[in-house]
Amino acid sequence: MNIRIALTGNPNCGKTTLFNALTGSNQFVGNWPGVTVEKKEGKMKKYDGISVVDLPGIYSLSPYTPEEVVARNFLIGERPDVILNIVDGTSLERNLYLTTQLMEIGIPVVIAINMMDIVRKNGDKIDIETLEKKIGCRVVEISALKGTGIDEAAEAAIAAAQKKKSVPTHSFSGAVEHALAHIEEAAIHDMPADQQRWFAVKIFERDEKALEQLGLSQEIISHIETDIKAAEAELDDDSESIIANERYMYITGITTQCYKKKNLSRQSLSDKIDKIVTNRFLAFPIFVFVMMMVYVLSIGTVGDWTVVFMNEGLFGSFKDLDPGFFGYSLFSNWMSVPELLDKVLLSADGTPVIAEWLYSLIQDGVVGGVGAVLGFVPQIFVLFLLLSILEDIGYMSRVAFIMDRLFRKFGLSGKSFIPMLIASGCGVPGIMASRTIEQERDRRITVMTTGFIPCSAKMPVVGMIAAALFGGSPLIATSAYFLGIGAVVISGIILKKTKLFAGKPAPFVMELPAYHAPLPSNIWRATWERGWSFVKRAGTVIFAASVIIWILNSLSFSGGLHYITGDEKSILNVIGEVIAVIFAPLGFGSWQAAVATILGLVAKEEIVGVFGSLSSMAGVDETNYSFIASVIFGGSKLSAYSFLIFNLLCAPCFAAMGAIRREMNSAKWTVGAIGYMCAFAYAVSLIVYQFGAFFTTLHFTVGTAAAVIVLAFMLFMLLRKNRYSRNKRRKKQMKKSTGEK
Ligand code: GDP
Ligand code: MG
Repeated sequence: MNIRIALTGNPNCGKTTLFNALTGSNQFVGNWPGVTVEKKEGKMKKYDGISVVDLPGIYSLSPYTPEEVVARNFLIGERPDVILNIVDGTSLERNLYLTTQLMEIGIPVVIAINMMDIVRKNGDKIDIETLEKKIGCRVVEISALKGTGIDEAAEAAIAAAQKKKSVPTHSFSGAVEHALAHIEEAAIHDMPADQQRWFAVKIFERDEKALEQLGLSQEIISHIETDIKAAEAELDDDSESIIANERYMYITGITTQCYKKKNLSRQSLSDKIDKIVTNRFLAFPIFVFVMMMVYVLSIGTVGDWTVVFMNEGLFGSFKDLDPGFFGYSLFSNWMSVPELLDKVLLSADGTPVIAEWLYSLIQDGVVGGVGAVLGFVPQIFVLFLLLSILEDIGYMSRVAFIMDRLFRKFGLSGKSFIPMLIASGCGVPGIMASRTIEQERDRRITVMTTGFIPCSAKMPVVGMIAAALFGGSPLIATSAYFLGIGAVVISGIILKKTKLFAGKPAPFVMELPAYHAPLPSNIWRATWERGWSFVKRAGTVIFAASVIIWILNSLSFSGGLHYITGDEKSILNVIGEVIAVIFAPLGFGSWQAAVATILGLVAKEEIVGVFGSLSSMAGVDETNYSFIASVIFGGSKLSAYSFLIFNLLCAPCFAAMGAIRREMNSAKWTVGAIGYMCAFAYAVSLIVYQFGAFFTTLHFTVGTAAAVIVLAFMLFMLLRKNRYSRNKRRKKQMKKSTGEK
């Protein structure tokens, strides 16, 4: 027995949850549309020879979006044995629109009405028998989340696949059916009978892809065209709308009979929460507050003791711990990683048993660099745990909805925010998620700006700066997050006013799923996926980069390349000083900061690695953090914050640049995107640093003048009239006034 079951349904109806339940696999469950663009196939757990395909979520089979193309090509091209149509029971009407189309393909369909736990909790009832009769296929009630009814659904699908029969019960109005009969007769009579109907309807809709696929002769097309025109004339609408309207009328007829709402006026708890959470005035303050709490808990509270524990204890020396530290008495006798290594690497008189340089490479280069990055693992995990909870309970989809309102004001849609949500884990999948945006211009803006959102690799940098100069304040992390969002919004406004990007946003249809209690397995999966990749990078990329840093900082140019002995400057130091000239106007002109910024392109957390290695190699007695604060940033909070801004906003890491390159599919656009990010970062850092310096010292310098000019230019770009939208409005007004005459 070899059966392929295709899971098909609207975005967010629970396909992936069901897929995971049926196959025991671990695909990412997201609470917003567009998470699954590619299809995924898996073997069913309890049955042999049966595979399940998770298709992207779609509202219809018209190939307008990438998701629709993937789903349609699979269904029409590969013809799975059975379609398991997942229908969100809480919005039956919208979901069944797709069902009517699936019924026409000629593949057996079984409907699984999902989210029954919510339907039942709301006290609503669905009359399954009537629905089955009306729509013409098996219907099973399930809850993919709770795992109820899924075996029954799977068995129904297998049974339907073996019967190989499906009978669409729906018929269109007389005029349409007449045309459809003619089309079948004229164009596709030699096709298998059960596939004819779908193609007939598509031809009637003048679906370009279908026509192209069929390659009909000009003669047949013009013959068919008369039939379509006749139906259009009779029903006074274009053929595509006729089909869509009749589908809706048909569904409304069914749902009024089958769906019994307990109480029409009763508001569910979700609705009540949404009234507050998505309130026009409260939504944004609540969002800021929620994010701040996330950072207070992860970077603040957890950071407070783990940063000290990890950096001063585990990778420094537990003896250096502040006696006031939580758990001091417990840990003060522990041995740290460097101390343990010393036990092995040092002989009794304190000299290394291996070559001096190798000892330094291990202790300063690797332990110093990798250790500094690993020190942030607890914070990263807690941060992602919290973000995953917010996602899973359904809050993050509200944020996309709130952002839609904000983004729409300047011409982007909330759909652009979804890649940004994903990018808070890692920019690479975030940038890839921009694929779901139909308008090329909006997709490009999204690709260009998604990297502004602080990803997991940037959080250690934020945490480090906060710990070294701001007493670990969680406000730094919160400000970093909203700096990212602010950069997206400002860029959106500026770019949308240019000719390259002008244009209206696409409608953003987003059904808000009901809130539900967080599911530990979902949360753990999402947290682990993001957190573990952070740890893995520390062991690979960061390890390699630390070795390179150590080499370059151990050799000098003088008298050939040799291991530094005296007070010579290292190669890294010399190169760093040259690059530092570029950053001096931004307030961080030290060579260490320059080197870190460049190495940040390898991976952003390498900035922390560089500082770790360099302070370890400098042989300072003080902790890393006081070295960073006093030597690298000269004790200036303003310099450190400017450094943070620049590194958060400038070009992303190489992996993300690669993703930009793939999504833009053009060298010119890739260079443009990265150039834009760097220029934007430079401008913002310059403004912040120079104005900050001016207000603290009251000295007007060349730098201040430059900042004034840059600020003026940005304000101009931001506030100037949008020529492109004004033109449109004027046209509309002209139409109106001529119409009135
Ligand atoms: P997909 O877009 O169709 O793949 O949908 P997902 O499987 O990613 O699910 C979307 C959201 O709906 C997730 O937050 C799921 O946890 C939730 N969900 C899925 N099935 C159910 C269900 O039966 N009941 C409830 N209450 N929530 C569900
Ligand atoms: Mg999915």
